[in-house]
Amino acid sequence: MQNHIEDLLSAYMDHELTEDERQQVEDHLESCPHCTAMLNELMDIQNQVVTAFHSIQAQEGLEDQVINAVGVDASKQRNWLLVPLLTVLCFITIALVAAGSLLFKFVSVGFRVLYYLVIALGSILGSNPYTIAGLIGFSILLIVVSSISLNHLFKTKSI
Ligand SMILES: [Zn+2]
Repeated sequence: MQNHIEDLLSAYMDHELTEDERQQVEDHLESCPHCTAMLNELMDIQNQVVTAFHSIQAQEGLEDQVINAVGVDASKQRNWLLVPLLTVLCFITIALVAAGSLLFKFVSVGFRVLYYLVIALGSILGSNPYTIAGLIGFSILLIVVSSISLNHLFKTKSI
């Protein structure tokens, strides 16, 4: 049983073999009708592909057809406005996402600080009833001020 060289035929056709490999293929082809037939077949296919490739030509008016199919009319000015409009929308979206995550981080850090502050103040002032009343009043004031400032923040951030 002969070792056929089918794997090398494609590379042989494309002149991608080394000198030794090329010699090996040519020697084999001289004595093997099977591989010679295979080579002829591959060459036929390659010729067909090349012919088909060269016969492909853009038909008349194809550009206009594509443009019409996509629905873009170059003569209309509003399409030129579409690009900056989309860019601005993208920037607004990115800005909102960035502001949102920043705000979330800020709020979560604020809550953590407030939590430790309450624990620390609670242990210090727990013994004195008058300071607790003062603290409650101060807390209410703080809540009102922070809600006003948060409200203001949301109003300026929202578009
Ligand atoms: Zn062979």
